[in-house]
Amino acid sequence: SSCDIGMIGLAVMGENVALNMADHGFKVAVYNRTVQVAKDFVARNPSTPGGLVCCETLKDFVRALKKPRKAVILVKAGPPVDMVVKQLIEAGVEPDDIVVDLGNSLWTDTIRREQEYAKQCKFFGSGVSGGEVGARFGPSLMPGGDPASWQHLEPIWRAIAAKVDPATGKPIEGASPGKPVEGGVPCTAYIGPNGAGHYVKMVHNGIEYIDMQLICEAYTLLDGLLGMSKDEMSRVFSEWNSGDLDSYLIQITADILQQKDPVQKDKPFVDFVLDTAGQKGTGKWTSSNALDMGIPANAIAEAVFARCLSALKDERVEASKHLSGPTPTPVADRQGTITAIRDALYCSKICAYAQGFQLMAAAQAEYKWTLDFGTIASIWRGGCIIRARFLQKITEAYTRNPGLTNLLLDPYFNDQIKQGQANWRKVVSIAAQNGVWAPAFMSALSYYDGYRAAHLPANLLQAQRDYFGAHTYERTDQPRGKFFHLDWPHPSRPQLDIKGTG
Ligand code: NDP
Repeated sequence: SSCDIGMIGLAVMGENVALNMADHGFKVAVYNRTVQVAKDFVARNPSTPGGLVCCETLKDFVRALKKPRKAVILVKAGPPVDMVVKQLIEAGVEPDDIVVDLGNSLWTDTIRREQEYAKQCKFFGSGVSGGEVGARFGPSLMPGGDPASWQHLEPIWRAIAAKVDPATGKPIEGASPGKPVEGGVPCTAYIGPNGAGHYVKMVHNGIEYIDMQLICEAYTLLDGLLGMSKDEMSRVFSEWNSGDLDSYLIQITADILQQKDPVQKDKPFVDFVLDTAGQKGTGKWTSSNALDMGIPANAIAEAVFARCLSALKDERVEASKHLSGPTPTPVADRQGTITAIRDALYCSKICAYAQGFQLMAAAQAEYKWTLDFGTIASIWRGGCIIRARFLQKITEAYTRNPGLTNLLLDPYFNDQIKQGQANWRKVVSIAAQNGVWAPAFMSALSYYDGYRAAHLPANLLQAQRDYFGAHTYERTDQPRGKFFHLDWPHPSRPQLDIKGTG
């Protein structure tokens, strides 16, 4: 028993996290259901600073670990996680041992698993973001579970996480195999008990969906309204990347747009990618949880529906022959339109993040977690897909006011929207007039206009509900919580009568 930690599941994520751990001097026991995968992996990586130990059975794996054992599971999310935990228990894992699920598990599964296995091990959930490269050289890690278990995991999590420069808030780049970056602030922090880490990871993914969709809408507007070439667009995104929109997703968009196709030489690569988006479900989880909790995360949901609509390729191609719309007319003011699209993107992004953080606030109340929103934003600054300069502003907003009800109310974000909203509205209306698809820009603007409205037409809606279903209503001239019903005119009952039920 000489290994500091163990890794079960050696696909893309497991292999890379294990190598990341070994690079930081931890000795890692590795196991994979298909044993050859583990053998090949260790054979390919004979000399890491910490060392990898191939285990052919889970019994060997358990025996290889120092106590309290720390076993990380990175297998396909869902039933395989339970199968592996049960196998680990059979293989000799003990009640003080820590079993970490680092996959994209549904947070309610994590809550359930922690309880279900409580007598046999300390089950702990941790979110991870950053894909293959993040896993290898520094992901963002969102741990949730028993605080005592976290004490044991913390040194390893802090070591392997992405690091940001405390002065600039930007990720420190330049790690290579065997040479991780030195210093910096690690992109990990204890999130909360049971499912909190996986929940926050899920919301991260929901935000990732809308971040990507907003960029796609900017791209389609630059194309539809300005007829820009991909190289021109790439330059626009690069320029945006040097300002408030500075982020990984904007940067890779600039790269993608200038990429030439390997088959159809000299033509833009992106033109040969079929326009149907896939999804693995975390955006859907975020949106359906928003529906369950009654939180208007409409822009996030819009991004999921946008992928669904894109997937109806054959139907869309057929419909395009029958359904008419305006032909986009080129806009004369080129530079003004580019700036307007940038502003629309930034304002929409603020709304999207406001929704994500509102959702986490609702979950905090529901599950009695104490989430530190400023810290959550700060651990997303490096390693993960949504890493962005913008996150620093969110941390600052929650530092100014930890009880902030909505990011839109923070002075910085409020001011940004004040500055950008005329352009935002212009872009949404030009998009509508020209028939350019921009659902997330529009949905975010509706959220903004709805959220800032002291009065919404829900008075009429409630009256309709009272009319057809006697669902009752509250009155503006009476205290909240008192409910009334109007006896609506009926052929047998011509007189109106108000009955209070409060
Ligand atoms: P996959 O999700 O593709 O899972 C493959 C691994 O799971 C293999 O090691 C496979 O073993 C193992 N496995 C599947 N079923 C079982 C089972 N019943 N019992 C034991 N082992 C099983 O791998 P990824 O590396 O892509 O992802 C791992 C986790 O990380 C997932 O939860 C994923 O959602 C999450 N994640 C993935 C990211 C990514 O970019 N890929 C990013 C962030 C999180 P075998 O070799 O024997 O088939």
